[in-house]
Amino acid sequence: MREKAHVREVGPRDGLQMVKAILPSAQKLAWCRGAAEAGIREIEVTSFVPAKIVPQFADAEEVARGALAMGGFRPSVLVPNLKGAERAFALALPQVNYVLSASEAHNLANVRRSTEESLQDFARIAAVRDQRTGTRISLAGGIATAFGCTIAGAVSETRVVEIAVRLTEMGADEIIVADTVGYGDPGQVRRLMKAVIAAVGRVPVACHFHDTRGLGLANVTAALEAGVRAFDASLAGLGGCPFAPGATGNIDTEDTVFLLEQLGFDTGVDVEALIALRRDVESWLPGERFSGAIARAGLPKTYRSHSKAA
Ligand code: ZN
Repeated sequence: MREKAHVREVGPRDGLQMVKAILPSAQKLAWCRGAAEAGIREIEVTSFVPAKIVPQFADAEEVARGALAMGGFRPSVLVPNLKGAERAFALALPQVNYVLSASEAHNLANVRRSTEESLQDFARIAAVRDQRTGTRISLAGGIATAFGCTIAGAVSETRVVEIAVRLTEMGADEIIVADTVGYGDPGQVRRLMKAVIAAVGRVPVACHFHDTRGLGLANVTAALEAGVRAFDASLAGLGGCPFAPGATGNIDTEDTVFLLEQLGFDTGVDVEALIALRRDVESWLPGERFSGAIARAGLPKTYRSHSKAA
C-alpha cells in the first residue's frame, strides 16, 4: 500500500481569476467533470466574492449547484468574508475555504481590513457554521502570502504559525498555507511547514504554491519532507492574484500529480486524462499563458501509471 497524497484542483477558481475571457458556467462544470473523471476528489469550483469585483464569478451559485449535483468529488468554494460564507452555507456545500493574508498590506489590498479583523470574521463564520443543523460543513482556514508579499516583502514565520493556531482554535478543519506570490523557497517551506504542522496538532495542513519563480515543485518536495500530504494545483498552471502583480501561475496539476506518483505516493489521478482535459481548457481560453512540462514533453516510457482512475 502506497501512502496517499491529495491534489485539490483549484483551476476553476484561482486559475480563472486572472483570465481575460468570462468562461461560461457549462465549461466551468465540464472542467470539474473532466477533473473528477481523471480521479481528482476535491475541486475548488468557484469564489463567493462580489460579482462587481471579480465578474468571472458572477455565476458562482450556478457553478456550485452544478458541481454539487454532479457527484464523484467534493466541491469547495473560496470565501473572503462572512457574506461569502453565508452564500456557501445556503447551498450546503461540503467545504468552504476562507482566506486571509498573513501580510497586513496584502490583506488590506485584498479585503480592505486588517488581518486581525479577518481573523475575527473567521470566528463569526465558524460560529454560524456551528449553529447550522444537518451535515457539518468543513471549514478551511487559508493563509495567503505566508512565504512573502509583493507589497510588504518578508512575512514573519512566527506570525504565520500564530495565525494557523488561531484559525485552528476558532474551528478550522484544515489549514491551507499559501505562497500567493511565489516567494517561497524549499528551505523556508521545510522550516515553516514543520512549524505549522507541529503547532496545529491533528488538523490537516495543505500547501498552495505558485510557480512564479520556478520553485513550485521544489517547494512541493520540501513540504512533503515536512509532512504535508495535500496540495492545491491548477490545470495547465493557470492562476494569479489581482493584487499581486506578476503572481501568475499555480503549480500545474498534471506536473504535480506526476511528481507525487514518481515519489511513490498514490494520488488516484490519471495524468493522461488530465492532459486530455487540458486540451479542452486551452481551446476555451485562447490567448492565455499555459505552463506545464508533462503536457509539452509527454510522460516518460518508464512512468508506471500507478493509479489509473477506476
Ligand atoms: Zn493562488
